[in-house]
Amino acid sequence: MSRKPEYDTQVQRYLQASIDAVKAVRTIYTDANFTEAEVLSNVSGVYLIFFYNANGKLFTYIGESDNVYKRWKQHRYGIQSLKKTLYNKFRRHLGTNDISNIAFVLLERDLDDQSARLYRETYNIYKFKSRNYSLNSKNCSSRLRCPDGTHGRCRTWLSYKVVDEKVVLLVFGKSINKNCNLTFVIK
Ligand SMILES: [Zn+2]
Repeated sequence: MSRKPEYDTQVQRYLQASIDAVKAVRTIYTDANFTEAEVLSNVSGVYLIFFYNANGKLFTYIGESDNVYKRWKQHRYGIQSLKKTLYNKFRRHLGTNDISNIAFVLLERDLDDQSARLYRETYNIYKFKSRNYSLNSKNCSSRLRCPDGTHGRCRTWLSYKVVDEKVVLLVFGKSINKNCNLTFVIK
C-alpha cells in the first residue's frame, strides 16, 4: 500500500480493522480515563497512539518505552505545548492541540530488554503503517541493532508470506555494517 490517495479508503479500512482487533483485547485510554493508565507506571512495552481528524480520518503512532505511563504523559504534554517537530505533526493532523480524543493503548507489555522493544516497535510501525501513512517519521529507530548486538544501524523493509490463505507480515532488518551485512527477520 502506498500514500496514493486512491488507496486511502483501503488503508483506512485496514487500519480500522487493526484498531478494532486491539480494542477487543486491550484497554484504551483517553482523557476520560487517563488516570487509570497509572497502572502502567514502570511497565515497559510497545504502544499505539491513534486519533481521528475532523474528517474522520484515522492516524496512528507507534512508540516504545520502559515506563509507558510516564512516556504517555510526556506525549500528552508535548501535543498541548507548542514545541517539538513530532508534536507539530500531531497537531497538524488533529487540527487542534486539544488532546481529549487522543487514544493510547499498550500493544505489548513487559519487554524490559530495549533491543526486543525496538524490534517490536518496528514490526508494529509496519503493521499500523505509521511511517508511510501517518505519524512515525522512521520505520526503525537508529538505536535498533542487528541480533549481534554490537553493530551499528540497520535498514528494514516489509515483505509478506501467505500461510493457510492468510497474509502474514514479514519484516526484515539488515545490518549496514560492511563486516556483518546480516539479514534477519524482525519478530
Ligand atoms: Zn551485525
